Amino acid sequence: MTMFWYAYRSYVAVGGLLLTLFLYAMLLTAHGMERPQFVLDQASASVQHVNSRPWRTASDFLAGRKYMVLTFDDGPYGYGLDEQILDILRKHHARAVFFLVCSHINEANRDVLGKFERAGNLIGNHSYDHLKLDTLAQPELEQQIGGCSKRLAELTGRHPYYFRAPFGATSPLVAKVAQSYGMKQMLWNANSQDSWVTKPEQILQWSTEQPEDQSILLLHERPTTVAVLDQMLTQLEQRGFQFVLPDQLSDSSEIN
Ligand SMILES: [Zn+2]
Repeated sequence: MTMFWYAYRSYVAVGGLLLTLFLYAMLLTAHGMERPQFVLDQASASVQHVNSRPWRTASDFLAGRKYMVLTFDDGPYGYGLDEQILDILRKHHARAVFFLVCSHINEANRDVLGKFERAGNLIGNHSYDHLKLDTLAQPELEQQIGGCSKRLAELTGRHPYYFRAPFGATSPLVAKVAQSYGMKQMLWNANSQDSWVTKPEQILQWSTEQPEDQSILLLHERPTTVAVLDQMLTQLEQRGFQFVLPDQLSDSSEIN
């Protein structure tokens, strides 16, 4: 009887060891795999893996890895704030989408666009004058949406691929006009509430507690947000988040 029990225990021990090695191997293989690719899922305002394989998914789950797209609206701000954001992003090896308002671009801050792009960030279209677009007629929408894309193209050499309506106030017509200029609408599914919250510590709390895996986080280029940005990214990293950008894919491969 004792002999039998000993034999049984060693089976359990060996089985446990093999299982541990197997899980470790899964974690490690995912590290050497190709870079994960993401696309915008417009319907759920989130990002999705496009080359997600069972190994990767299991590895992400075991490692507690989550993904997030950081988005900053209403820039360029000027007065060095844009550069401060870039420094903090660089510190965290993070990149972001900057949804710019074209009427905010002036002689003093136009150099910021090149700085955004050279650091690997994306520039998005947030309209010309930050009006509520869902109340405008088509000719005005052409000016607000198309006009801003044209201006951004003059400054950067390329047309923006992502569009975000001010206040998130979109409509089928807004979407149609944005699409006619080759853009995808990007809304958000996590909100820092920094457009109205004035206390930085509350912005920090909203930004770090609410987001789930594959979130798109809405932030604004504001001093109150920048005051807690470094801390925010640190806390999100502690929750397992990696900061990614969606790929700019053609319609056929896009998840819609
Ligand atoms: Zn805005």
